Amino acid sequence: MIWLDGKIVPEAEAKVSVFDHGLLYGDGIFEGIRFYNGRVFRLEEHTKRLFLSAKAILLKLPWTEDEVNAAVCDAIRANKLQDGYVRLVITRGVGGLGLNPYLCDTPSMFIIASTISLYPAEHYENGLELITCGTRRPTPGSLSPQVKSLNYLNNVMAKAEAIKAGCVEGLMLNEHGYVAECTGDNLFLVKNGKVLTPPVSDGSLDGITRQVIFELCEEAGLSIEEKTLTRYDIFTADECFLTGTAAEVIPATKLDEREIGDGKPGPVTRQLITAFKALTQSTGTPF
Ligand code: PMP
Repeated sequence: MIWLDGKIVPEAEAKVSVFDHGLLYGDGIFEGIRFYNGRVFRLEEHTKRLFLSAKAILLKLPWTEDEVNAAVCDAIRANKLQDGYVRLVITRGVGGLGLNPYLCDTPSMFIIASTISLYPAEHYENGLELITCGTRRPTPGSLSPQVKSLNYLNNVMAKAEAIKAGCVEGLMLNEHGYVAECTGDNLFLVKNGKVLTPPVSDGSLDGITRQVIFELCEEAGLSIEEKTLTRYDIFTADECFLTGTAAEVIPATKLDEREIGDGKPGPVTRQLITAFKALTQSTGTPF
């Protein structure tokens, strides 16, 4: 069952117009949200980011944050799931065939509550391999990578490069050649006992899971810091891991044929995976 513009409808009836600017131009925004054990994880943070994305693209939303939160819970309940993944999409709505966003009167929102398994289980145990993608993250002068917009074609092209190279995820650099993030995940390193990640101004989404890692490190007394990173930093790190709502926390053990550390998931990564699991199982908004 799909939540579509205020109604819960069967999947086959959940349709949007071919004149919707989300489809015609990628003109819209989205969130990916997980729920665990009957509770939505970091729901308010996701909704806040959604509203910031809307503001950044001049999209006036006819819903309040509370109404969006309630709609997410309704969509989950309608599917009788306890654990799973929500995809919430807001499009600019139906407009003319031209770009003009002001001709789109009413945004459209749909919410899919389902399940997702992004990467094979073995990668969570043994780590995944990354390649550096040729496709770069957009510059700050273009649409900010901090906007979680429907314009994901850069990431899709980078993902295609990674898959062609036999990897499930790829590293994306910014226009200066510094590490930004992966195609759908934020990236962290561990070096000499310190956890490092690039500042979002280096071209990444301000991931909700990324924020959770900062909290978990602080709670565990692990030093964590934002730092501009190069591929060299990853090649020579002791550990590397990726974070994202769908991915959760996953070790990365190889980049461009170089083993990271000893090529196995490291102790800090394992500690954070355990802490992340415990947190997701024990906190969240009940639905
Ligand atoms: N970067 C990109 C490009 C993403 O699409 C995502 C979400 N899949 C992330 C990072 C991770 O963000 P979050 O932890 O909020 O899911």
